[in-house]
Amino acid sequence: MNHIDRRSFLAAGAAAAAAASCTPLRATPAAGRQTTRTDADAATRPCVISSGNGMPAVTRAMEVLNGGESPTDAVVKGVVLVENDPDDMSVGYGGLPNEHGVVELDSSVMDGPMHKAGAVAALQNIKNPSRVALRVLRDTDHVMIVGEGALQFARAHGFQEENLLTPKARKAWLKWKRNLNPNDDWLDDAQRLIPAKAQSNSANDIPFTWGTIHCAAVDTNGDLSAVTTTSGLSYKLPGRVGDSPIVGAGMYVLNDVGAAGATGRGESVIQSCGAFQVAQNMANGDDPETACLKVLTWIADHTKRQDLLNANGQPNFEVTMYALRKDGAYGSATMHGPRKFAVHDGNEPRLLECARLFETMN
Ligand code: ASP
Repeated sequence: MNHIDRRSFLAAGAAAAAAASCTPLRATPAAGRQTTRTDADAATRPCVISSGNGMPAVTRAMEVLNGGESPTDAVVKGVVLVENDPDDMSVGYGGLPNEHGVVELDSSVMDGPMHKAGAVAALQNIKNPSRVALRVLRDTDHVMIVGEGALQFARAHGFQEENLLTPKARKAWLKWKRNLNPNDDWLDDAQRLIPAKAQSNSANDIPFTWGTIHCAAVDTNGDLSAVTTTSGLSYKLPGRVGDSPIVGAGMYVLNDVGAAGATGRGESVIQSCGAFQVAQNMANGDDPETACLKVLTWIADHTKRQDLLNANGQPNFEVTMYALRKDGAYGSATMHGPRKFAVHDGNEPRLLECARLFETMN
């Protein structure tokens, strides 16, 4: 496997275990990159980070922090904006549905100071799973509630039920369904009895996809929280649960160390305990970006199925890890990229390039 250059990976003495099975990363970061704040002197608090679709989320979360509310309230109020956005087809309202055309949402949230999490999975008809997860965190002794139980819990807390399948997401799902098998009774695009021009528009060209928002915040005192929320893998089997609501996979917080999260192929993140590993790597002294890269290396080394590997033996899917350290240092790394993540460290929100484990997908 050929990895992209990474100075800090070697500097951290990194992962003898990873190096044993992977070509070690070399010395020069990609030109012009400005992703990681490993210098503790440069780190500032408060700070909020998010996946690349989270510019509104980091902006709102910073306002909430500056208003004196907790990091937990900040991250949830931040991601709710993206859950409510019908144009983000990876999260909440407008998210792509399961194979039966039903939107099922997953979310988890963790409060660092309390070391308490709340999560919901396979939740239907409620557009803000992060807010329901927050109620699980604050109002119950449980960590996770799923399916019909999660819906009942949401109803009991006054959440409104609504149809989350927007016309755009429904069209994308129908297109996927039509094109599954050329020999079934649905006409594939190539067989359809309509003018070719009418076959293509952006609403109909949504690919089979993952998509999620992760957001983490640290306040001026160094207290941390994180949330991850998603409609999960599009056209999934009903009841499939990804990494986003799994504490330690899609999101994790160690209040005396940092917060971590993941987006991308959830099955790989669950099987690596991805966010937990990132937090542990930071606890062991890795800077945030290196902590993320090591987990991606771990995932690459433990991807054994041929159908998940490209011709170079690298994973043929994306996973992106995010890390926010207690001092306000942050980093993110992605399997192939290019990909960006969002940061707000007090002045203004901005998008930065994620570090990349591999140069290309192929
Ligand atoms: N991780 C999410 C899942 O597998 C999807 C994503 O982040 O793209 O459900």
